[in-house]
Amino acid sequence: MTALVELHIVVAAVLGVLSMLCLVASLSLGRNDALTWTAAALANGTLQTLVIAFASDRLVEFLSAAVLAPLSFLAASQAMACLGPALGHRLRTIIAVGALSMAAVGLHLINAPFPVQAAAFELACLLAMIDLVWRVRHHPASGLQTAFKFVAYALLATTAMRLLMLPLHFGPNASFELFKTSLAENLFFGAASVLTPFATILLLARIILETTQTLRHRSERDGLTGLFNRRSMDAKAETTGQGGAVIFCDIDHFKGVNDRYGHGAGDAVICSFAHLLDATGQTAGRIGGEEFAIILPGREADEAAAVAEEVRLQFHHSIHDALPLDERLSASFGVATYGVHEAARHAFERADAALYAAKSGGRNRVVVHGPSAPLPTQRSTDKRRAA
Ligand code: GH3
Ligand code: MG
Ligand code: MG
Repeated sequence: MTALVELHIVVAAVLGVLSMLCLVASLSLGRNDALTWTAAALANGTLQTLVIAFASDRLVEFLSAAVLAPLSFLAASQAMACLGPALGHRLRTIIAVGALSMAAVGLHLINAPFPVQAAAFELACLLAMIDLVWRVRHHPASGLQTAFKFVAYALLATTAMRLLMLPLHFGPNASFELFKTSLAENLFFGAASVLTPFATILLLARIILETTQTLRHRSERDGLTGLFNRRSMDAKAETTGQGGAVIFCDIDHFKGVNDRYGHGAGDAVICSFAHLLDATGQTAGRIGGEEFAIILPGREADEAAAVAEEVRLQFHHSIHDALPLDERLSASFGVATYGVHEAARHAFERADAALYAAKSGGRNRVVVHGPSAPLPTQRSTDKRRAA
């Protein structure tokens, strides 16, 4: 076995293992499309490398290049499409790439001049790559994205130059052997062999980064409103330092909204309230059905009360699409502070007590915790419900 064949077997094994890992990761994530397409591109690369290492038949070699190479780029492009914004033209590109690929096979079967066969195949690759680069261009900027874009452009330039080189450098009747053994082709092949693994690693890095970010977002955020969930708020409330304030709030008579207008209308009201909290620019979370909290590090009670009052007024004057035009809703707010070196969590019970006082005082108001809103002797939430 020659050293080149051994190298190809090692490359095929690495690509094959990577493909399997992507597939297993995709399945364990409940089917991640970007990973599935990357697994397909890598499986394709494995097959192509094995053909290069073992195939002695020209037809098999040509078929592998003409069909598998454009397919790999299409699969990589599909993986990119799963990571970025939804763009059209997928089907048209797939049909055009497939047609060029089949044309290359047909030209090979009728023994057309080699540069003509190769031009059809290179065009198929080029088109699939343009699709890939075009998708990458629409992705939000990041370091990884820039690196991937750079490598993808370099691959695109290599393929374009190879395509131009065929007729210009060799003339229309050059043989496959002349082409394959030429210095120019070996340089292009070498460049593509270096750039492709780089592109694959960068693509995998992007998928891993985006998948972990998505999973992290899901674990930290509330699915309905996009605000932080209870677990995140509890974690954020553990931080100590500069002291600050906490606001607890609860939509008034919300059960009636559900009862009168349906659960969907209730959800829309929850979302619009959450939007107002988010617009404060503070750390806001949904800690129960229609109960929310805001943590305001470094803020005094009167500043927090002003924030709460602003949200209260905006919500009370809001017109809700899902409700009759004259239906006005309200919410109650409890404000409490925590000291320097104290965690925000220490203010939670006091804010809850103030919220209870706001509910029993008639709702639609802001109450700052103080002597008039003492700490509850039993869970104030239960009392609130009874109020
Ligand atoms: P209060 O003024 O005392 O706060 O009264 P309330 O009716 O707002 O409070 P209560 O605790 O009696 O009812 C809260 C209701 O919120 C009951 C529950 O069905 C509803 N709810 C909880 N989570 C959701 C949700 O995600 N969507 C919708 N639509 N309703 C929810
Ligand atoms: Mg309520
Ligand atoms: Mg409630």
